[in-house]
Amino acid sequence: MAIKQFKAESKRLLDLMINSIYTHQEIFLRELISNASDAIDKLYYRTLSDGDTGLNREDFSISIVPDKEARTLTIADNGCGMTKEELENNLGTIAKSGSLNFKKENEPKEDIEIIGQFGVGFYSAFMVAEKVTVMSRAFGAEEAWKWESKGAEGYTMEPCEMQERGTRIILALKPNTDENNYDEFLDTYRLKELVRKYSDYIRYPIRMDVEKSRMIEGTDKDAEGKYKTPEYETYTENEVLNSMVPLWRKNKSEITQEEYNQFYKDKFHDFSDPLLVIHSSTEGTATYNALLFIPSQAPFDYYSRDYEKGLQLYSNGVMIMQKCADLLPDYFSFVRGLVDSQDLSLNISREMLQHDRQLKLIAGRLEKKIKSELESLLNHNREKYETFFKNFGLQLKYGIYADYGMHKDLLQDLLLFYSSSEKKLVTFKEYVSRMKEDQKYIYYACGETVERIDLLPQTEALKEKGYEILYLTDNVDEFALRMMMKYGEKEFRSVSADDLGLETEEEKKEAAKQVEENKDLLAFLKDSLEGKVKAVILSQKLKSHPVCLSTEGAISMEMEKVLNSMPMPEGGEKVQAQRVLEINAGHPIFQKLCALYAAGDKDRTAKYAKLLYNQALLIEGVSVEDPLAFSNDICDLMVEG
Ligand code: ADP
Repeated sequence: MAIKQFKAESKRLLDLMINSIYTHQEIFLRELISNASDAIDKLYYRTLSDGDTGLNREDFSISIVPDKEARTLTIADNGCGMTKEELENNLGTIAKSGSLNFKKENEPKEDIEIIGQFGVGFYSAFMVAEKVTVMSRAFGAEEAWKWESKGAEGYTMEPCEMQERGTRIILALKPNTDENNYDEFLDTYRLKELVRKYSDYIRYPIRMDVEKSRMIEGTDKDAEGKYKTPEYETYTENEVLNSMVPLWRKNKSEITQEEYNQFYKDKFHDFSDPLLVIHSSTEGTATYNALLFIPSQAPFDYYSRDYEKGLQLYSNGVMIMQKCADLLPDYFSFVRGLVDSQDLSLNISREMLQHDRQLKLIAGRLEKKIKSELESLLNHNREKYETFFKNFGLQLKYGIYADYGMHKDLLQDLLLFYSSSEKKLVTFKEYVSRMKEDQKYIYYACGETVERIDLLPQTEALKEKGYEILYLTDNVDEFALRMMMKYGEKEFRSVSADDLGLETEEEKKEAAKQVEENKDLLAFLKDSLEGKVKAVILSQKLKSHPVCLSTEGAISMEMEKVLNSMPMPEGGEKVQAQRVLEINAGHPIFQKLCALYAAGDKDRTAKYAKLLYNQALLIEGVSVEDPLAFSNDICDLMVEG
């Protein structure tokens, strides 16, 4: 029999398939089942529109037949089938399907990636089979045809016998190798697993004869009625492997919380129930169903590089991608779940998918939906929201900081920070609603823990005025707030900033006078700190404490700590906040400094300046540069005293 040649593109793709080292060969089954389902769809629609085919939905099915002896796997359907011409046209050339943008200049490596993600339909059979036989009888036709191919050199066609309409695809599996055990595709257990994994929601039953074992009735008891080891027999049951109706296509009102929870745990391998379920269906410009979950705990690798975000992507009930990253923004990367689109083509390539308008549209909708669901949780179930925030709040804060603050509007109302006055987590909105009439800024303070921040001397004056302060304990916090700059009209201001905007004009004048009077002393103190501080000033924010540090410019003490704790490129320099030593003019220590300086005791004045500076560092949670000198200075004082 004459061997016919494949068209050029098909040949190339076949080469790839045959020599595929791709590890997800198993997707061939999904592809063939999906083709079978399409073929049934075609006939079923004809049934619906013509109404005279005499067929019902229940008449259709797909069957899988593994034959261990012959080492063949058959996938059969009773769909529309193919005529001789259709067989040649459809299977003789791949360009037909058109959905695979097969660029000639592509490197083979990339091609394999495409195959891995989406498969290329029928041809994927050659990843596991050394010979593929397709027998088909078109609906309404008397004759059947057999197409057969061993791969790239071509295919043959001949008439054959078939009792019923439809298509049978017989795969003669490749011999096993060290790397690949093709026998796994003859194992009923494995086949069941694959159908459930990839084709569970195909709308027609996928059937397979499964061998089972049962107890022979009455063999568990002896003649006297005593229990004994029973006898078993094997029998064959024609089992439907797929569930056919996807949960996400069902009406919300028909689904119990328990069903959602079970589905989530099975599908996403979590031991705990999800914290939140978001089930939404949309029609119109984008028609899709989405079933999303927020886990109740951050996965152990969540904040590591290993974590991969993404949603499962289905096209009309057929899974086309395990983790579609483009469906989720980074700040919502904790969301798990799936999207089933009615508008996406099954064989769309990954590159095309990235630019797909539908996908972008869906991603945009999902983002809004996730946000509004979180907001509603925040408003209606604060306790649950706080659990969520404890696990994933950090990711939202990174989201604010990322992309130059682009997502600020979307995310800012989802943030929580500990409040000095409320003693619990609060939102910016709540903070602003409580702001005093004369309060200019939203104040925040940074530190390792709430307890430590609460002791910072810088917070004294603000607290005395009854102003609320947000306590920032995560590294990213201050960066995020700096990126935001404002919430609504209100600017953020660190308690360590040089100007807290507290004084009246009158007080400012008074302060300026005081500085003028002590100009020489302050200059001397600064000099004696040998370049460690940008300035020594008289503080407006201290009440009972003698000293504190504040900073000028863009970098705060907290940011200095964070930035310097990060890995640095070779030759990189540590950053330094521009420190300002603030002294409380109302504290007896300042009188002491004035007295010493006036008496001309420069040595001791300088020593005190260093001691005060080191104390300020310690309060700030920064270690002193020379602890030994610091300790000696204190001992000297004790001895003198
Ligand atoms: P695609 O499914 O993307 O069109 P395939 O290479 O998988 O690409 O299949 C090519 C064509 O072969 C299909 O479009 C369909 O017309 C036909 N075909 C494949 N499998 C079957 C089947 N089981 N029954 C009827 N036609 C089929």
